[in-house]
Amino acid sequence: MAGYFDHNATTPVSTAAREAWLEAVERHWENPSGLYREAGVVKRKLEELREELASYMGYGPERVVFNSGATEGNNAVFRAETGDSRVLLGGVEHPSVRDAARENLGRRVVELSVSGAGVTEVEAIEKELGAGDVGLVSVMAANNETGVLQPWGVIRELCHSAGVRYHCDASQWIGKLALGGFAHCDLVTGSGHKFGGPKGVGFLVVPADGEAGFRSQSGGPQEAGYRGGTEDYPSIVAMMAALRERLTIDGVGMSVDRDWFESELKTRIAGVRVVGEGSERLWNTSMIVMPDHRNVKWLTRLSGLGFALSTGSACSSGRENPSHVMEAMGLDYEEMGRVLRVSAGVETKRSDWASLVEAFEGVWGQLERGERPSGSRSLAEL
Ligand code: PMP
Repeated sequence: MAGYFDHNATTPVSTAAREAWLEAVERHWENPSGLYREAGVVKRKLEELREELASYMGYGPERVVFNSGATEGNNAVFRAETGDSRVLLGGVEHPSVRDAARENLGRRVVELSVSGAGVTEVEAIEKELGAGDVGLVSVMAANNETGVLQPWGVIRELCHSAGVRYHCDASQWIGKLALGGFAHCDLVTGSGHKFGGPKGVGFLVVPADGEAGFRSQSGGPQEAGYRGGTEDYPSIVAMMAALRERLTIDGVGMSVDRDWFESELKTRIAGVRVVGEGSERLWNTSMIVMPDHRNVKWLTRLSGLGFALSTGSACSSGRENPSHVMEAMGLDYEEMGRVLRVSAGVETKRSDWASLVEAFEGVWGQLERGERPSGSRSLAEL
């Protein structure tokens, strides 16, 4: 997997997660709602995992709802938002926040301004909170495209003092940076496959007041009534096994290899630009604007050499809507077509970054000379 640089999209399932999943599928497959002994064992284990996750994040277990991931969690947040008050959104939120908020709340949604560095502006939140009539603020912890960290700790405190509910989409933060600091958030979304767990499992932290109206899915009484549907215990146990492996990660010093890659790439290919470079960013993410050639050309050729990258949600075919994140950061439409996102994992080594730089340089030469791509390698071969 040395050539895999798309960890912000999804991560490989860690060995511990896979083993935990297999054991659960073989030994604890019963429905946790059952009234027989084996089902009771699964139920007890599920509640232990809920307590464990809650303790890492600084809550009581009653606030943790296991679900299918961040999209479901983010949708539930805005479906539960009743009343007429305004809802403030960060300027670079994921579509599962942005679209869910707009679809459910329409004109009550106020999208906050973003600095050129990709950071939602605290002053804008202060101003809106000062104007009153705000029911909820939703600002993510770290952006999935640029890796730019948002000032969510400050925002959390502003909301706490103003008595306004705060939701943090922490999907890209959890597993990459320290888990502390979420205690004063009213709502937090997380997704297992972003940190070595399986896809289709995640969690939502719900408000402490057990507020009525919070119902992710109608159905049975599972998850204390917050989410109907049989719990996927094997996936939950696997997600928690993956999370446990990431508990000691604090991000300190971890950006060294990514920083080296950026500086090396800029040296070897004149005109490379890093989006959000001046901001605090996730240690693993690099969003770059190439000086020439469309991003799909880069992606295809790099893929042929065994490297998996992405365009983030910047446009790749030239037909999609422009990325609101890139737009908010001042990139024009043509530049967006040259954007590539590189996102490493905990297992990525300096030598992997070095191979990627070599590949970039090789592809640059080919593209500039108008040559056809050279021999193809699969990810597994690297
Ligand atoms: N929020 C953010 C910030 C994300 O990066 C993602 C995944 N790209 C999601 C929400 C949605 O997560 P999932 O696909 O696991 O539902």
